[in-house]
Amino acid sequence: MDTGRRGLVMVLTGNGKGKTTSAFGQALRAIGHGAKVLVIQFMKGSEEYGELKAARQHLGGVLTVEQHGLHRFVDKANPRPEDIDLARRGLAKAKEALAGGEYGLVVLDEINVALDFGLIGLADVQEALASRRPHVDVILTGRYAPTELVQAADMVSEVLDIKHHYADGIPAREGIEF
Ligand code: ATP
Ligand code: MG
Repeated sequence: MDTGRRGLVMVLTGNGKGKTTSAFGQALRAIGHGAKVLVIQFMKGSEEYGELKAARQHLGGVLTVEQHGLHRFVDKANPRPEDIDLARRGLAKAKEALAGGEYGLVVLDEINVALDFGLIGLADVQEALASRRPHVDVILTGRYAPTELVQAADMVSEVLDIKHHYADGIPAREGIEF
């Protein structure tokens, strides 16, 4: 359903913690105003993420989270064919959702990393963004956002790593890191 206002392209990048969780906060806000939200998570493939559990257990019908990756480290110099195939499938789903208009907000989580690792091509991402229905807002998260996306975006936030408890030896914890 077109609502007449132009959808924004927003980028959340940088080395600090808070990009993905900020995108989910944006999703919650949009849902509060009646939007349906789709989150496509590149390079992730674990049922343990709290945001995935929350979507499935409490937000069915308004927040859909799809993972198009493996729960395994991707070697940037030598990605597995499966890593590439999954990322490309995620981008195909993203393009379909952006053009379909069913969702008021589409979050492409870690897509900047998938681009940096060469799993998907910048031209394909730009085409998906260009083909979106005018009312659809989109957020692209992940470190290493390419200059071209930063320049084309309406909003860019860079999350700066000032300090992180990981440096004090505090391991990843459910509810915080996942
Ligand atoms: P979050 O998912 O908590 O919002 P993020 O999306 O900003 O974090 P990513 O850059 O996607 O973080 O990194 C993936 C994982 O690494 C996340 O679990 C995140 O909590 C953790 N992380 C992020 N920044 C740091 C950091 N500076 N030092 C250690 N771990 C970090
Ligand atoms: Mg993230």
